[in-house]
Amino acid sequence: MSFRPTKWLQRLQSAFTSTAQLLSPQAAACLLCGKLHNEARSAEGLNRTKLTLRLQQSVCGVCLSTIPWLTRIVCHRCGRGIHCDDCLRNPQRSFILNRSAVHYNPAMRSLLAQYKYRGNEELATLLADMLVPAFERMTAELALRITPPGPAQHKQSHKNIALYWDAITFVPISPERALDRGFNQAEQLANDLAQRYRIPLMQLLVRERHTEKQSFKTRSERMRDTRHLFNINEVEFDKLRNIKLTHRNKEESTDRVLRVLIIDDIYTTGSTGEACSQALSLYSGQPLEIYILTWARS
Ligand SMILES: [Zn+2]
Ligand SMILES: [Zn+2]
Repeated sequence: MSFRPTKWLQRLQSAFTSTAQLLSPQAAACLLCGKLHNEARSAEGLNRTKLTLRLQQSVCGVCLSTIPWLTRIVCHRCGRGIHCDDCLRNPQRSFILNRSAVHYNPAMRSLLAQYKYRGNEELATLLADMLVPAFERMTAELALRITPPGPAQHKQSHKNIALYWDAITFVPISPERALDRGFNQAEQLANDLAQRYRIPLMQLLVRERHTEKQSFKTRSERMRDTRHLFNINEVEFDKLRNIKLTHRNKEESTDRVLRVLIIDDIYTTGSTGEACSQALSLYSGQPLEIYILTWARS
């Protein structure tokens, strides 16, 4: 049997190529522009915001760089990036603060519309991933406000982040809207975040009546509309109290306050968030801190 160096070299080359193909990142279509992109390139230059790997894999570098992240906060109550008359006019709020992931610019409006009204549920995970940096910054702000729960408070691991929250809930939609749309966008975002950090997801609120789309309304119409719009899901709220008691007994939490995060897609005047917070505070009967996290701030 003769040794044939060419054939041997060919075999070696083909083995090498297939290994290289396996190891190189797969090109995927960007969820926003549809173009093929490479995951490694999309992460370049974006180290400042802590983006999830899933977000980097699903959106190209160009699209990622055009996302209007809301990182510079001017109004510390509602998380707005510009001066805010609403909070000056209404300094009394039932929630501690709102933070949002992005500015609601035309591109974000059309992205949310694709997801909400055209039923593009694939975008649900994308929007949830976009909430992550805002949620982690918000928890860091909260950590500075209160006594830290454990010695490892400086490390922002998922477990440490979860220690600050007793439950994640969401703004409920009416049964009519649920039937029409087939899903609640706020619930999907809340569910994704709750699973990621292993924080209990609870439907603490129910919507008392159906209202027309808020986007076409003036500020005073919204305020009138949302008055007594939400009620408490008492069974879930009692579960929340029990979870807190169990944790307290196990000394997992030295924190006496019940702390709840409400998720919604948009914060406009804050009337929806206020109505939800009011309902929760009125029912609670014990120290309750409510924070709101919204995908966009309009
Ligand atoms: Zn793109
Ligand atoms: Zn404000």
